[in-house]
Amino acid sequence: MLKAGELKRKSNGAPVKTVAFVQCAGSRDANHLPYCSSVCCGVSIKQAVQVTKADPTASAYIVYEELRTPGTAEEFYRQAQSQGVIFMKGKVASVDAGAMQVTYKDDILGTDVPLSGLDMIVLATGMVPNSTDPDVPVVDPEKSAALLKDDINPLSSIPVAGYKPGGASGPTPPAMPHLDRIPDGGPILNLQYRQGPHIPVLADGFSDSHYICFPYETRRTGIYTAGPVRRPMDMGESAEDATGAVLKAIQAIEGSKQGVALHPRVGDLSFPKVGHEKCTKCRRCTVECPFGAIDEDESGRPQINPARCRRCGTCMGACPVQTITFDNYNPQMVNAMIEANEIPDEFSEKPRMLILACENDAYPALDMAGINRQAWSAYARIIPVRCLGSVTLQWVSTALQKGYDGIMLMGCKSGDDYQCHFVKGSAIAKERMSKVGETLKSLALEKERVTMAEVSIADSHKVPKVINDFAELIGGMDPNPMKGF
Ligand code: SF4
Ligand code: SF4
Repeated sequence: MLKAGELKRKSNGAPVKTVAFVQCAGSRDANHLPYCSSVCCGVSIKQAVQVTKADPTASAYIVYEELRTPGTAEEFYRQAQSQGVIFMKGKVASVDAGAMQVTYKDDILGTDVPLSGLDMIVLATGMVPNSTDPDVPVVDPEKSAALLKDDINPLSSIPVAGYKPGGASGPTPPAMPHLDRIPDGGPILNLQYRQGPHIPVLADGFSDSHYICFPYETRRTGIYTAGPVRRPMDMGESAEDATGAVLKAIQAIEGSKQGVALHPRVGDLSFPKVGHEKCTKCRRCTVECPFGAIDEDESGRPQINPARCRRCGTCMGACPVQTITFDNYNPQMVNAMIEANEIPDEFSEKPRMLILACENDAYPALDMAGINRQAWSAYARIIPVRCLGSVTLQWVSTALQKGYDGIMLMGCKSGDDYQCHFVKGSAIAKERMSKVGETLKSLALEKERVTMAEVSIADSHKVPKVINDFAELIGGMDPNPMKGF
């Protein structure tokens, strides 16, 4: 209509002389869309300018709480002001489509202001991600939802868009009404994963990714997302974003040609092997693999798909009989490292602490602290691990039997805004360690002897204190009674 130079009401063809644009309609609202869609302010300004250009006698109002015009878009906002668009700051109290009236509480006047006699009301509604296609029939939603719950893992609270969030025994996730529904369409991608045909997504329904280090990577190896599939953004940003995703895809093709792992263990040639003779077919590895890289054969034996595997070792940490190994990383290897440390006898009053530090964030943070000449307790012995998800309870038990007085697992931040490079490693370790506490209690050992610390790469200045506080705690306890046996 605007292209034809005139704006008319769709319902009755009457000319439009007064338009109100209502910003953040449902956005940045904890009960609807908690995020900002980032483009609505710019789009409303553009349309308001078009209204005033098409008919200089028309009035365009933009009612907003906070107008977001970053960068050079600020100039666009000023242009709109100079072209007669009227900006009104305040929270909208009501929109009456029958009376064509918008009432808002004006921030400057401190009172409710009605905008009446409107010919058109435009609600700037937000972007809603959807991993399904509403035009495709829903395929067995219950089965699909159940499988996806497996994918998000009973130990994890990471929800999947369009499905009821949360797992069987994980922590209760925050209420997200916009996700609390069964799929409203069929799959778009039709992925052949036992967890279902979709890409897992994060809290707000956008595709799951590590927002700091791996923004484009999804949990489906070789699939990269860009643009509003991964977060709200405008066309210009989306085009730039797509460049990043394409570069990652090139890296994936090159890596698969050489048969090496992709991010974060770029170039790793090893992959997990299952010793089927010991395997009890418990399925823990299949369920806990964050990347859906393990299927089962007809007899229930795990089959690892190396093309999907990221070499995190989570399956290794999950296996109760330690029958999953890598050539260059396995339970026996770390056990030997734990045992190789010298433990002073109980009369020397020198405690020993073992720190199993994730190689992705915790170990580099320790490294940086060392480079910056920061000191920490000399009683700590540090062993790097691929991911806290790869830590097997056997290592903890070996360390206690060896006589270590305290054990700390140091890894990335878990939760919805996780920083774990393997998505769920820290969350899984937390769950596993909660069970260690009970075992320690039954052995009459203080449960505080085994602890977890979440650090990010930027926390190098904090890690000495984390270790020293733990050293102080352990120093206040009696020596590990298993010392010397
Ligand atoms: S190493 Fe990680 S990605 Fe590979 S199969 Fe095991 S859990 Fe899955
Ligand atoms: S976790 Fe270990 S025992 Fe269980 S299915 Fe996997 S390989 Fe077999």
